[in-house]
Amino acid sequence: MLRVHSIETLGTNDGPGIRLVIFMQSCNFRCLYCHNPDTQPVTGGKIMQSEEIIELLEKQRPYVKDNGGLTVSGGESLLQRQGLLDLFTKAKAAGFNTTLDSNGSILDDSAKKLLEVTDLVLLDVKHIDPVWHLKVTKASNEPVLQFAKYLEEKGIPMWLRYVLVPGYTNQKEFLEKWGEHFKDYKNVKRVEILPFHTYGFYKYKELGFKNMLEDCPVPTAEEIQEAVDIFKKYFKQVFVR
Ligand code: SF4
Repeated sequence: MLRVHSIETLGTNDGPGIRLVIFMQSCNFRCLYCHNPDTQPVTGGKIMQSEEIIELLEKQRPYVKDNGGLTVSGGESLLQRQGLLDLFTKAKAAGFNTTLDSNGSILDDSAKKLLEVTDLVLLDVKHIDPVWHLKVTKASNEPVLQFAKYLEEKGIPMWLRYVLVPGYTNQKEFLEKWGEHFKDYKNVKRVEILPFHTYGFYKYKELGFKNMLEDCPVPTAEEIQEAVDIFKKYFKQVFVR
């Protein structure tokens, strides 16, 4: 059983090829810049069974090539790791690529089992500095870094993702440290920079949540380029999404 917030068919932004993207309900982080705050609460969303999702995936089969398949995103997907183990096992058995988009905050036995049937992890490492990570997400980055290390040890491919927010995550010294930290990880296939945007602001109003970044500017083209240039010192494949 899975609690699903929403579904995107024929998605092209979250993993290779064309994908069915399942956004899970509930999250254990509270990122200041979250553009889907409606996924955060534990309640809400729709209960679905793996079989229903596999049926949707099968409908997309004619379009699936170049490693396309299924992506599970959030909210935080690992919070529903037991249900996802069933879903990913079935998706893989049917020949689809399985991709997990995650904040990497949980690494227990169930999470490890899920990773055994995961082809790719899109890992958001939201800040390399523990104090800033706490400030930006209300959570520690220690488990996230342990999660990344585990993926490296197991050779599980990952795309690292980084949301660039002026004044919060664009400090040059920390971008350098972030690059330094991951530069020798052989499983990093690409790095994606996600410039902060304001598209989800209306949701804060609807939900009655306080929006701490109401006055935060979006990054300029120069600021984005600066981050790209820094990450390019450490990684071959750097993209802006
Ligand atoms: S981890 Fe993702 S879903 Fe959760 S609060 Fe942060 S941005 Fe929002």
